[in-house]
Amino acid sequence: MSRADSSPTLPSPALPSYDQAATLVARYAAELRRARPASERVELGKASGRVLARPLCADRDQPPFPRSTRDGFACRAVEASKHKFLNVAGSSHAGQAPAGQLPKGAAWEIMTGAPVPAGADAIVMVEHVETVEQQVRLLPPRTLKAGENVVLQGAQAHEGDELLLAGTAIHAAQIALAATCGYATLEVFVRPRVAILTTGDELVPIESSPGPGQIRNSNAPMLAALVSAAGAEPWILPTAADTAEALDAALAEALKADLLLISGGVSAGKFDLVEPALARIGARFHFTGVRIQPGKPLVFGDLPRSHPGNNQNQNGPKCCFFGHPGNPVSTAVTFLLFAAPIVAALAGSLEHGPRFVLARLAADTDKHGKPGLTRFLPASCTFGSTDGQLPEVELVPWQGSGDLAALARSNCFLVVPEEAHALQAGAIVRILLT
Ligand code: AMP
Ligand code: MG
Repeated sequence: MSRADSSPTLPSPALPSYDQAATLVARYAAELRRARPASERVELGKASGRVLARPLCADRDQPPFPRSTRDGFACRAVEASKHKFLNVAGSSHAGQAPAGQLPKGAAWEIMTGAPVPAGADAIVMVEHVETVEQQVRLLPPRTLKAGENVVLQGAQAHEGDELLLAGTAIHAAQIALAATCGYATLEVFVRPRVAILTTGDELVPIESSPGPGQIRNSNAPMLAALVSAAGAEPWILPTAADTAEALDAALAEALKADLLLISGGVSAGKFDLVEPALARIGARFHFTGVRIQPGKPLVFGDLPRSHPGNNQNQNGPKCCFFGHPGNPVSTAVTFLLFAAPIVAALAGSLEHGPRFVLARLAADTDKHGKPGLTRFLPASCTFGSTDGQLPEVELVPWQGSGDLAALARSNCFLVVPEEAHALQAGAIVRILLT
């Protein structure tokens, strides 16, 4: 088995900070976003997780008629506020066509969702009236203002309005809006195909009983889940052994993808052969490490898709790649921080970057972090605060970047800035949402 020939354009050793690397990736994602992906039509019920390829427009006014938001009586607010009895001239419930003109000095019984009769300008709630036979009056001392409990026709949208932009990610609310506007199908962007190439002589498939020194390949299914959640189609390639030949063959196949995620083989060890293999097929490296922990050896670059060899067209179509360090926590963090924004851009989504929010730290952190590295530590955040306080976050005890159980018990990562050696209980901190 040959070791890689490390002669081609290997990267410079100066490592960017987290912010520098994130800015570089964001710029790259913005470039990718200019090339619109192809689109396809899907049934509305299958559109969750996809991205709109065309704006979604209102097919009629929303609401389509002045709509009552309460059960009660439609009336003129000025008349009702005099507390005199009003004749109940009729009744409407949701689903009925709009009633005619409301006679002067009258009220109209109405249910939530029903059209408000012309001439009425407010709804008095059923709980706020006194009823005597066919007459009602607003109970003093309450008064009623024009517009109360009525949503005017077109208040939410007018026919033809663009309600959602192309590039909007589709979830439950967007599906409901599409349904209300009469879209039984939606035009969505074709999902990018993301190749997942795990490398390592130690890896065996899930079904296998690992032999001495072997472990199961958990990064392939984890990356596949992350890729799906980010809006792309995962394509798991066979695991490549730690040899130049195996990597060359696997990379040649992987180039058919829109994005390539490689796991393992990017650290400084004797069997970390991924970077030289990428360099052999003409890789351009944007960075080959970031000042973060875990995940410092992360590699980002792109490859020409043209036939490998010396006469590659550097301006031709590119396949960008990430080389993720193989330890599972490193793989997960570097995907969320850097690969997810590229997946989103390739998917045509307008959503940007990783999601950070502020939280309050429950307990002091240890002082063992390496200076000069931004740390992303598995943590657990409680979001259900009802007292107006920030969510509270605490570290999940972990044994380093191989600790999958800690990762699986976490729901975010605590960000420890590179200048901070430790953080104190009560501090307002940033967390990365997973
Ligand atoms: P590497 O980045 O190739 O040096 O891998 C570092 C460590 O990560 C390995 O020693 C394994 O323990 C672990 N590892 C690498 N690849 C995987 C994988 N696909 N699934 C689970 N663990 C992995
Ligand atoms: Mg390895």
